[in-house]
Amino acid sequence: MKVVIIGGGAGGLSTASNIRKYDEDIEITVITRDTNIAYSPCAIPYVLSGDVECFDDIIMHKPKDYLDKNIKILTETEVCAVNHDKKILKYSSIKEDENIDDEITYDKLVIATGGSPFVPPMEGTNLDGVFKIRTINDGREILKWAEKSNSAIVAGAGLIGLEIAYGLKKMGLEVTVSEMLPQIVPRSLDPGMAKIIQSYMEDKGINVVLGKPIEKIGGETKVESAVFGDEVIPTDMIILATGVRPEVNLAKMIGCDLGRWAIKVNEYMQTSVPDVYAVGDCVEAYDAFTGLHAQSPLGSTAVRQAKVAAKTIVGIKSKFNPILNAMVSKIGKLEFGAVGLTRAAAMQNKMNVVTGKKRALTKARYYPGAKPIDVKMICDIDGKILGCQIVAEERVAERIDTMALAIAKELTCDELANMEFSYAPPVSMVIDPIILAAEDAQENLNKLTN
Ligand SMILES: Cc1cc2nc3c(=O)[nH]c(=O)nc-3n(C[C@H](O)[C@H](O)[C@H](O)COP(=O)(O)OP(=O)(O)OC[C@H]3O[C@@H](n4cnc5c(N)ncnc54)[C@H](O)[C@@H]3O)c2cc1C
Repeated sequence: MKVVIIGGGAGGLSTASNIRKYDEDIEITVITRDTNIAYSPCAIPYVLSGDVECFDDIIMHKPKDYLDKNIKILTETEVCAVNHDKKILKYSSIKEDENIDDEITYDKLVIATGGSPFVPPMEGTNLDGVFKIRTINDGREILKWAEKSNSAIVAGAGLIGLEIAYGLKKMGLEVTVSEMLPQIVPRSLDPGMAKIIQSYMEDKGINVVLGKPIEKIGGETKVESAVFGDEVIPTDMIILATGVRPEVNLAKMIGCDLGRWAIKVNEYMQTSVPDVYAVGDCVEAYDAFTGLHAQSPLGSTAVRQAKVAAKTIVGIKSKFNPILNAMVSKIGKLEFGAVGLTRAAAMQNKMNVVTGKKRALTKARYYPGAKPIDVKMICDIDGKILGCQIVAEERVAERIDTMALAIAKELTCDELANMEFSYAPPVSMVIDPIILAAEDAQENLNKLTN
C-alpha cells in the first residue's frame, strides 16, 4: 500500500511515524512546503525569550532520520493538484535552484496541511516590520528584526500573542499587547483569572491594551505606528498573532465536505471522500459539551488525531473523541491552563452553572518556596464539572490534566472532592487546591438548592 501525506507538521509527521510503528511495509511519502521538518512551533516564543538557546535547538529531526525509518520526505515541495479518481497528485519543487514538477500515485491520502495565520483586513499589513507567526522561518525573521528594534506591538492576546510578547520583552523591547476583546486569553479563561495574568505581564513592564482592535498600521515602506481609534502608538514592529485559518484548498479540490470551519472528518479521521484522511489544524473537531463544530488548533490535538488516522489506515480500531480543549502556557514564571468550558461559554450555551474558587498554595505553607495558586471550577447545577482554570507559578499542567480526566469521566465536584490525592510538604498541600475549589463549588451548589 502507498500512503502519501501532504504536510510535514505535527499532524503529518506523527501520522507517518505512527503508520510505520504499526506496519513496516507501507510505502510512506510526506510532502511539505516547509524547509524544515519536525520542529516545534510551540517553542518559537521561548527562543525569543532566550529560554531555548537558538532555533536550531527546536528542530528535533532531519529528513534523513525519517529515511532511516523508510519514510520519504520531500521538503520545499508544494502539492499543486490532486486527481483522486486516478489517485495521482502533482507536486513542484519551490527550491530556488530546482525546477522539478512531478507526480506520485497513492492508495490512501492524508491531508495535514495545517493553517495559515489570519491577517486582519486593515491598511498596512504589507509593510516591512509586520510579521505573521507560524513557522520556524517566521520566528527567525522576527528575531532578526527584533534585534535591531526598540519597540513592538503584538496584535492578539491569545496564548501565542502573550508568549511572543513576553519573549520580546525579555529581549529588551518596549512591548504592547493589543486585544480587541475586553480581556486577555478570551477563549480559555474567565475575566477574573485572565486579570491575574494581565497584572503579572503589566508588572513585567508589558503594556496591555484591551477592547480596541488595531484599525490601521501606519508607515511608508516600514511600519511606524499602530492606530487604535484616536490613539496612535509608535512602534518598530508588529506581530500578528490573530488566529489561524485552516488550509483547505486541496481538500476542496478533491471534493471533501467542509464543516463550519474546516475539513469535516468522522471520529476515525476519515473525510467524506473514501481513502482520504485529514488531521491537525486543517480539520474540524467537535466540542464535548455542545456537540457543535469546534476548532482546536493545538499541536496536542494534531498528534492525537494523527495516531487515530494512522491506526485507521493500518486497520486498528481507534477513535478521536470530542475535544475538551485542554491548554497550558507559561509566561515568565507564571503558568496558566484551562480545560472545558469557561463560565462565559457555559452561559452563552444557556447552561446554568455554579463556580468554585480557591486561592491556596502549591506546597505546605511552612515549606520554603510555596507559591500561590488560583483555581476556578465551573459545574452545572447537578454538580457535574464542566471546566477548570488554574494560574500558579508551578504545577499547573498536571492539575489541568487531572481535571481533563475528571471532566471526561463526568465527575461531579462532590465526587472529585472525595478523591484520594498524594501529599508530601515539598511538593503539595495536604488538601490539593483543586479539591478545595471543588468543595467551594459544592458549597455554592448547596446554597443554591437549600
Ligand atoms: C508560536 C506558536 C506557539 C504554539 N504553541 C503551542 C502550544 O504550546 N501547545 C500546542 O498544543 N500548540 C501550540 N501551537 C499550535 C501548534 O503548533 C499547531 O496546532 C500544530 O503545529 C498544527 O500542526 P499541523 O500539522 O496541523 O499544521 P502545521 O504544523 O502548520 O503543518 C502544516 C504543513 O502543511 C504543509 N502544507 C500546507 N499546504 C501544502 C501544500 N499544498 N503542499 C505541501 N505542503 C503543504 C506546510 O508546509 C506544513 O508543513 C503553537 C503554534 C505557534 C505558531
